Amino acid sequence: MSLEDHAEELASDLGVDKEEVTRDLENLVNYSVPMDEAKQSLRRKYGDGSSGGDSTPSSKAINEVSTEDSNVTVTAVVLTSGRRSIQYNGEQHVIREGELADETGKISYTAWDGFSGDLQPGQTVQLGNAGVREWDGQPELNLGDSTDPEVVDETLDIDYDVGGRAALQDLAPGDRGITVEVQVLECEQKVIDGRDGETTILSGVLGDESGRLPFTDWDPHDEIEEGASVRLDETFVREFRGAPSVNVSEFSAVTALDRTVGVTEDAPRLSVREAVESGGLFDVELAGNVIEVRDGSGLIERCPECGRVIQNGQCRSHGAVEGEDDLRTKAILDDGTDTVTAVLDDELTARVYGGDLDDAREHARDAMDKEVVAERISDRIVGREYVVRGSLSVDEYGANLTASTFAEADDDPATRAQALLQEADT
Ligand SMILES: [Zn+2]
Repeated sequence: MSLEDHAEELASDLGVDKEEVTRDLENLVNYSVPMDEAKQSLRRKYGDGSSGGDSTPSSKAINEVSTEDSNVTVTAVVLTSGRRSIQYNGEQHVIREGELADETGKISYTAWDGFSGDLQPGQTVQLGNAGVREWDGQPELNLGDSTDPEVVDETLDIDYDVGGRAALQDLAPGDRGITVEVQVLECEQKVIDGRDGETTILSGVLGDESGRLPFTDWDPHDEIEEGASVRLDETFVREFRGAPSVNVSEFSAVTALDRTVGVTEDAPRLSVREAVESGGLFDVELAGNVIEVRDGSGLIERCPECGRVIQNGQCRSHGAVEGEDDLRTKAILDDGTDTVTAVLDDELTARVYGGDLDDAREHARDAMDKEVVAERISDRIVGREYVVRGSLSVDEYGANLTASTFAEADDDPATRAQALLQEADT
């Protein structure tokens, strides 16, 4: 069923103008709301056959707002506000997103371009007739041209900080209107195929005292360069390869700082379960026993076109190809709370195998069997405890930790004490 058809059906069910419904539906769908949820929300908005429309929405405390509400009036403090440009009906629209809080809790909002309010962080506002929709199972306020905003002179005793100042470690996909002070650790220009042809963007890695995260600057700012310490205002956080990523846009303010932002050397150490439950981490340290070396380890072949691992000279995308040899290890790490697959590149694999690619080729040739390489790796690491640092992604392929370091855990208390003493000496 096309969007048109859905709109037609809704309009006739609800007895309202089809064009209006189409527009609303397009808004929601373009904002990645699933079709079923979008239709439900419009059924609520247009009253689903009941008389609706002329009832005044009730004033509610934020913790009382539920996904069952269609419209509410709330009085709240603006915590964060971030602009973002999106496209629907073939046009560019600027929406504002962030969070509001009162004494009872906080709630996310989206303000569409018809909304007439200002939404400065720190302001107390009364929002009359704010729409409610469900987003990720939670109620969210939808502010549009039918919402009546008013700045009120009232101080609310809220439990949250105003402004989106955050440490990198605390950011999660969906955060908006965020301010961070960071050091740019890596930065490169990329040319991508954007909506309006080729555009240049910046991408790389940011760091602060709490951790590291990747970033993308969609509207390159001169102040963002390798080694620079900068303050980034009005950024938003998206998921990129299973981990949070900081997004800088044309609405972000970038200020060079006259101090150097310190960057932690360490990655946070978590249990495997905590790490997997986080949904993905750019830089994390896990420790556990290697319980198995998975298929697809040892001496493998990759497609020269796309780099995918191939079997029997066949790439899923490129058909029959002349494969290129490579080394890789996929080791299942178990710490008693959960398991994760640590993926080791050629260099780390060479270290655990005890030989480079040429050695592995010779080894396989002599044995007339490629599997001997994976077998030796397995013999050397299974049953031992390792500390692995890397980037964790959690998706339909499972929990994979792309390792940057893979070191055997030093369990000897005497050696550990010795190391501590040496540290204290220096
Ligand atoms: Zn390929």
